Amino acid sequence: MTKAEAKTRSLKLREQIDHYRYQYHVLDRSEISDAALDSLKHELQSLEEAYPDLVTADSPTQRVGGEPLAKFQKAPHGVPMLSLNDVFAFDEVEEWQKRVAKLLPPGTQPSYFAELKVDGLALSLTYRDGVLIRAATRGDGQTGEDVTMNAKTIEAIPLRLRPVSKILPREIEVRGEAYMPKKEFERLNAEAKQRGAEPFANPRNAAAGALRQLDPKVMSARKLSFLAYDLVTDIGVQTHEAVHALLAELGFQSGKHNRLCRTLAEIEDYHRDIEKLRSRLGFWIDGNVVGINELVTFKRLGVIGKTPRGAVAYKYPAEQATTVVEDIQVQVGRTGALTPVAHLRPVLVAGSTVSRATLHNLDEIRRLDVRIGDTVIVQKAGDVIPDVVQVLPKFRTGKEKKFVMPKVCPACGSSVQHPDGEVAYYCTNKKCFAQRMEELQHFVSKNALNIDGLGPKILEQLWSADLIRQPADLFDLTEKHFAPLERFAEKSAANLVESIQAARRGIELWRLLNALGIRHVGEQTSHDLAEHFGSISKIRSASIKKFLKVHDVGETVAQSLHDYCADYDSKKHLDELLKRVTVRAEVKQVGRGSLAGKSIVVTGSLAHFSRAEAKAAIRQAGGKWVSSVSKKTDYVVVGEDPGSKAARAKQLGVRVLDEAAFRKLLQ
Ligand SMILES: [Zn+2]
Repeated sequence: MTKAEAKTRSLKLREQIDHYRYQYHVLDRSEISDAALDSLKHELQSLEEAYPDLVTADSPTQRVGGEPLAKFQKAPHGVPMLSLNDVFAFDEVEEWQKRVAKLLPPGTQPSYFAELKVDGLALSLTYRDGVLIRAATRGDGQTGEDVTMNAKTIEAIPLRLRPVSKILPREIEVRGEAYMPKKEFERLNAEAKQRGAEPFANPRNAAAGALRQLDPKVMSARKLSFLAYDLVTDIGVQTHEAVHALLAELGFQSGKHNRLCRTLAEIEDYHRDIEKLRSRLGFWIDGNVVGINELVTFKRLGVIGKTPRGAVAYKYPAEQATTVVEDIQVQVGRTGALTPVAHLRPVLVAGSTVSRATLHNLDEIRRLDVRIGDTVIVQKAGDVIPDVVQVLPKFRTGKEKKFVMPKVCPACGSSVQHPDGEVAYYCTNKKCFAQRMEELQHFVSKNALNIDGLGPKILEQLWSADLIRQPADLFDLTEKHFAPLERFAEKSAANLVESIQAARRGIELWRLLNALGIRHVGEQTSHDLAEHFGSISKIRSASIKKFLKVHDVGETVAQSLHDYCADYDSKKHLDELLKRVTVRAEVKQVGRGSLAGKSIVVTGSLAHFSRAEAKAAIRQAGGKWVSSVSKKTDYVVVGEDPGSKAARAKQLGVRVLDEAAFRKLLQ
């Protein structure tokens, strides 16, 4: 290759590598695999090594490397980096709006722009002639630190701006938040734990620690991301909304969850919508930023102290809190699995009192090294059971006690077993009260027989009165059985009996299968089995080989199904059940609905669907939910923070849909 050829080739390589970077970080699409992209980067690096004068400041090879610094240079800000006033409740938003209205000419009707407040570190990026020349931290707002070398390792930060139709001044300044994605935070902390190092307390500290590394090689090993939210340079754009659009055009990730709000009520809707979405985002937020959209108005409102009047940070209540582990007890699940649960000194987290947190299993207890008496950080995300995320060992007094897995079941006293290759410990007694109660609760739950009104209290009463021992017994209950029970009105007894009787007439096969509580057979596998076999008798007589033919059923599941069908007690239980209920024939969904006959994979989190909702929606439209991408897959729906499945889809030429396209298909 001549030097001229090398020059042309390296130019193309830089363009294409940035193109893929833009697709991935801004548009959330992966057009080629990581391996292929690495190969392009490698080729560019080789060319630049052969012809060092081809290296440019904006070359993607310049993202890594550089010599460690002795210290950071000071970086004064031309326009001070302000901070925002916090508000925590809607009435405070109203007060802010009233204050603002007083300062504006009568009749001014501002609109509001709402965006996520990412929990990270503010950065100011300066571009000259389109090339990144300086990245600076906020510092005290007037002067920060020059962290250009470290910022260059963040792939979401363009080294060169993309061409736009607007004419830009020679130098422009972009601001945004550098942050650590949740996955990266978890990866780093797992690694730290392995090395015996202290884990990071929170992702903001981790991001700040990374950016303030004097050795850029250490920084590049921690994958930060960047979300742009402001363009400081005045280029004649009228609204903050237009600023965001321009930032995306320039090659930045500028937020997909932004919303223009006309009224305060719309701001509140936004705040609630994001709260629901929050746990499914790939990064942490601590609230939203709400600001006046019209830039003229925003500027007119001015600054008071170090905060602009035209915007506020509308925060969510804290999702973490510290408390003390008063005890660790085990709970017996329906399969007999023993789950350790931390009993906590009650503490307010995200607006509700938490007194228990799951510790999942013994491995997790060892990983956290949590002991009875420890001060811990508990975290609550959405509706899920709170987790203990970290122990604060500095609070230890020496009186803390290590947890020991009991040798016998706390509910029935039978011996506890730890099967090879499994994380969980199990109670070996099939008649264990705790297990049977859990089994009954599972049997009547929403995704099983869906019997309303049979809560744990009533089930326990029925058990104590010797009225039920297994799920089949429920169907023999009549109104008179409820009469002697405490606090049971005639009417509610009648209603309860009616809903039990309604459930026995025509159960869907998948519900029955899920209700049986077979180990490793959950809702999805129940659907797959029902669709594949079509009847309970075919399932009962199937061999392991036949089970393995079912979509997504592997050795463990097949073995478990086989064991269940061969087990004497389970057989008897199922016989009793089938005497009492009618199983509805499985209606094949194929041929109906907008997704009829299509196999669909969903990767990443969707804004409008939980995992279960997406599954249900696909099924309802006649489609089939599958978990891995193959040539047979028809569509891959890509949400927020997608996994490798998106790249795999591209490789195989499977059609990729974003959430909007997916929703359209469902209509
Ligand atoms: Zn037991």
